[in-house]
Amino acid sequence: MRIEIVAVGTELLLGQIADTNSAWLGEHLASAGVDSHFHQAVGDNQARIVLALRTALSRSDGVIVSGGLGPTQDDITRESIAEVMNVGLVRDESIIGRIVEMFQARQRAMPENNLRQADVPVGASIIEQTRGTAPGLICPLGNKVIYAVPGVPHEMREMFERGILPDLRRRMAELGEESVIKSRVVRTWGASESGLAEALDERVAELDRREAADGSTLTIAFLASGIEGIKVRLTARAQSEAAADAILADEEKRIRAIVNERLGDIVFGVDEESMEDAVAQLLVRRGLSLGLAESLTGGLIAARLVNVPGASVWMKGSVVAYDSAVKRRLLAVPPGPVVSAAAAEAMATGARAALGSDIGLGITGVAGPDEQDAEQPGTVYVGLVIRDAPPISLQLHLPGDRDRVRQYAAISALDLLRRSLLAQPS
Ligand code: ATP
Repeated sequence: MRIEIVAVGTELLLGQIADTNSAWLGEHLASAGVDSHFHQAVGDNQARIVLALRTALSRSDGVIVSGGLGPTQDDITRESIAEVMNVGLVRDESIIGRIVEMFQARQRAMPENNLRQADVPVGASIIEQTRGTAPGLICPLGNKVIYAVPGVPHEMREMFERGILPDLRRRMAELGEESVIKSRVVRTWGASESGLAEALDERVAELDRREAADGSTLTIAFLASGIEGIKVRLTARAQSEAAADAILADEEKRIRAIVNERLGDIVFGVDEESMEDAVAQLLVRRGLSLGLAESLTGGLIAARLVNVPGASVWMKGSVVAYDSAVKRRLLAVPPGPVVSAAAAEAMATGARAALGSDIGLGITGVAGPDEQDAEQPGTVYVGLVIRDAPPISLQLHLPGDRDRVRQYAAISALDLLRRSLLAQPS
């Protein structure tokens, strides 16, 4: 089943409002297993709305049109649909009754114009209004259909779920097409998009060739998400939610195995799981507490970590030691350059001692735009000490402006911690 979306409103074309209705509808159609190959936005002009509807119907099984159902003269979606259906409009008494009641309940006089909202193309049925004054419409055209809903986002959503989705499901069942589409996002840190794509090249090609016997489908897409790493989105279409979930679980396992073998431990979570969630889970599982010493990140790492509910169990605190003298006095960083591996390791050790934690994580570097201690902007050192083991450190060269360097530095430090925790016994 293919459904096209047409958003009506000159304000959309002028960029005065963003077309969030189409985005929402696109997402919800996809999860209902409905394909949507085109979205159109069109102004409040009958000839152009008619053209948009005819174009949509020529290449899809139906259309959802949002907006233009209001009471004013420029709300002409009803008239446009009637023209496409080649029928007239009739005034529906039951709708008039409800509009009158709504105005009486608000103790306001009803402008005559509002009666236009009771006009319905002959042959259409209505989706009753529960929130605003305009009802939605279900307009059959042979075996195709136009659904019309108000532009006001909360009215549109409620009507989609109550009136459109059940009708779409019924139509899909008649066609024997009932299906659901579900996605899962596998999140990685530390590989480039091209490196990841190369590792998964064969699997992607295999899926392209595959014709599942039961009609189910599975696709893989790569999404670069900047400072949050590279995401691999798996999308499955199947006959039921359980079947789609099973396909996704199986594929997630396969992807993790391939990536792990080719690129190492770069997967840190799925869907909404963040890097700090991954770190938090490992700290809980290993029974270890954490103390931080942050220079260029100025508390960013601590802020991310304390976002995780229950952080007080394992988070001791963070010393934001920006000034070199503070690093030496509070963290016992020895004389010498403060942007160095030795300083990062000393900060980790100093944080562990000062905060009484099992683990110390220290970070120092040059956020830019100017260089410091002859080090280029983007040069960052992360130091880590776990219990009484000797401290380790990592040198990074991070791209971007001051803000990006600080953000990249924070997630890189968290990732070093995550990998080191993975190597610890439970
Ligand atoms: P009503 O019956 O309440 O008058 P309507 O069907 O006439 O609704 P419009 O007048 O087109 O809808 O839009 C009403 C409001 O809904 C707009 O001012 C805008 O804020 C919002 N809106 C309309 N279309 C969209 C869209 N595609 N995406 C997001 N918001 C929208």
